[in-house]
Amino acid sequence: MDYLAHKYLRPRKIPSTACSGCGLGQVHKKIVMAIDELGLGTEDVVWGTGIGCAGRQTFNTWKGDNFAGTHGRVYALACGLRIALPPEKKIILTAGDGDAFGIGLTHLLNCARRNVDITVIVCDNFGYQSTGGQFGYTTPQGYRTDSSPYGMVENNWLQNGVDILNILKDSGATFLARHTSFEGHNAVESIKKAIGNKGFSLVHIIYPCITNFGGAALRTRDPEKVYKWFSKLTRPAGENIGEDEFAFHTGVFYDNSNGKPEYSEVIRGLTDRIREGV
Ligand code: SF4
Repeated sequence: MDYLAHKYLRPRKIPSTACSGCGLGQVHKKIVMAIDELGLGTEDVVWGTGIGCAGRQTFNTWKGDNFAGTHGRVYALACGLRIALPPEKKIILTAGDGDAFGIGLTHLLNCARRNVDITVIVCDNFGYQSTGGQFGYTTPQGYRTDSSPYGMVENNWLQNGVDILNILKDSGATFLARHTSFEGHNAVESIKKAIGNKGFSLVHIIYPCITNFGGAALRTRDPEKVYKWFSKLTRPAGENIGEDEFAFHTGVFYDNSNGKPEYSEVIRGLTDRIREGV
């Protein structure tokens, strides 16, 4: 077993439950690498999971404390835990794009608005892949899915100047980044910054779904072809693209780490003042 998996993950949860060639394991590994490089142990992190492929892959794999939310609700649970737990305890959540950017979006935005000290890793496979491959909120326009056999007609949260990370920034998030699962150590560095921020952080990681997105949208389940398609569309943050082009810009999107009051600290300060009768 991999050294990091042995150190941080429960052996009965290894190997991964994901399909062969899926990028989820790469995301999972990057999070564990970031935790390790920050010198954190299993007792320092509480790991929460959402629903879908991302939740299934990471659910209860952490050797320390875990919790799971129903679809889209893990952010609200994490918000309560943030107040209940000691401030130095890190809370990391892994959820899918349907969970974070659709069903749970209001909870997510409210966590950003409050600047709650949690790190959300959104593992994005471009739709509801665990239920057979229905389109979601980041499915590229024009591509076939199980529920859009003639091609996805809706805009998504990455195109036409409406970037979900902009919405999260405007809502109050203090650290935001986007990466792909296969792009090397950049993503690990962003996850480390996200965990280090005393406030709401989100790292959006796009990863290849071989079985459903590959099979329906790209008409291939050959991992090499699917990875090549994703690589071709990956661009560094700030690079200009044509109005009709679609690409994933990766890198740190916004960094105001430790720049705003954090929610649980504000609540603790208030309760202290009430106790003191001030
Ligand atoms: S359905 Fe797709 S995203 Fe889900 S585990 Fe399989 S390859 Fe990965």
